[in-house]
Amino acid sequence: MATEQQCENCGNRYDKTFMVVRGTETHVFDSFECAINVLAPRCGHCDTRIIGHGVEQDGRIFCCAHCATHEGKTALTDRADHRSDETRLS
Ligand SMILES: [Zn+2]
Ligand SMILES: [Zn+2]
Repeated sequence: MATEQQCENCGNRYDKTFMVVRGTETHVFDSFECAINVLAPRCGHCDTRIIGHGVEQDGRIFCCAHCATHEGKTALTDRADHRSDETRLS
């Protein structure tokens, strides 16, 4: 007999819930979408949920370097500067 547990996001009782352990907290969800809704951090500038790695500077997390720049975090970039490589190849 399957054990039904309740999703802490939407309250669904479902026999295929799963647990997510983060640090000392244990969470129960019925879907990844519910897990993301509760656990995913939000960008410090545009409030978008960060599903991937995001970028982080000075303890604040952003969805992209563009948003970080808007909050004065200018050390982050979306891409490396390849101009020096091009110079070497020509
Ligand atoms: Zn749910
Ligand atoms: Zn953002």
